[in-house]
Amino acid sequence: MSKIILTGDRPTGRLHVGHYVGSLRRRVELQNSGEYDKIYIMIADAQALTDNADNPEKVRQNIVEVALDYLSCGLEPDKSTLFIQSMIPELTELSFYYMNLVTVSRLQRNPTVKAEIQMRNFEASIPVGFFTYPISQAADITAFKATTVPVGEDQMPMLEQCREIVHKFNSVYGEALVEPDILLPDNKACLRLPGIDGKAKMSKSLNNCIYLSDSEAEVKKKIMSMYTDPGHIRIEDPGKLEGNCVFIYLDAFCKPEHVAEYMPDYKSLDEIKEHYQRGGLGDVKVKKFLNNVLQSELAPIRERRKQWEKDIPAVYEILKKGSEEAEKVAASTLKDVRNAMKINYFEDNNLIKEQAEKYR
Ligand code: ATP
Ligand code: MG
Repeated sequence: MSKIILTGDRPTGRLHVGHYVGSLRRRVELQNSGEYDKIYIMIADAQALTDNADNPEKVRQNIVEVALDYLSCGLEPDKSTLFIQSMIPELTELSFYYMNLVTVSRLQRNPTVKAEIQMRNFEASIPVGFFTYPISQAADITAFKATTVPVGEDQMPMLEQCREIVHKFNSVYGEALVEPDILLPDNKACLRLPGIDGKAKMSKSLNNCIYLSDSEAEVKKKIMSMYTDPGHIRIEDPGKLEGNCVFIYLDAFCKPEHVAEYMPDYKSLDEIKEHYQRGGLGDVKVKKFLNNVLQSELAPIRERRKQWEKDIPAVYEILKKGSEEAEKVAASTLKDVRNAMKINYFEDNNLIKEQAEKYR
């Protein structure tokens, strides 16, 4: 069986370092591993509209921002198909059929939907489209017969729901869909990177992000103001690592060569942590170290972005070509789905014969 990746992001803002460690960095590695037959990366504008219906301009403006972030992180259009969700109408039709396979109470139990409804104060007025987005996400994944979906931990319930839909579809109509596997980051700190305010998740909607396209000065300012251990007041005080964003970020980004280059008095990140816990290592010093680490990771991304920003029409052209290619694939899956469901009245000679027999 082919190995196929599908994943994507909502164009509700520029991408941040949470996206990077949670999914983007992995995608680029998988792309370059050569182990996958096809890689589809989707800009989920239709999904973004489910909770931004009154602000379509925000979604429209951010499509190119997300595409620029993709290209600057190293996704390459000749290795990965980059496309826009709404350009593939087949996805809507698939969602429509899948809606019959999911109950309202099952959607209400989806923990991510629950959390996101709360975060957006939607309790009394949930748009139907938003409520059903796990179904449309299942359509996105299955349309490409994806086997692997590299995403952050918040997407686990979505993948579970998708697998249930596939299972139900295949058992009712016959095997037409592929059950996907989730691929989570190996590194625990990357599963759900907290925001710089120490809140549970860095998220475009929470305004607590370090963006991939932030300038060097912006990144530094954000790091220096970051949430650490409120009990670590004097340098000699023992410090805590739990819930300390600076150390969570170091876990997500720091490589041994960073320690050798920027903190040569220490052998490893573990040794830095031990010193912090013992007392005698100040927040400012650790933050400066994190700044060096992050800047060295972000500098090449920023550089590549500058190049692509000079040729915006080329970026749209990549998305257009990718969308055309993606539509062909989705159309072929939709055909399989219609055949499995026997929604193929004009192509089924037996049906016409049978019906004619009935009236003979
Ligand atoms: P929004 O607030 O509009 O939902 P978001 O910041 O949550 O935006 P999404 O577009 O919903 O971003 O998520 C895209 C991908 O990035 C998903 O795979 C998600 O799991 C991953 N991701 C998002 N935020 C984080 C994070 N803080 N840590 C790890 N992965 C993340
Ligand atoms: Mg989200």
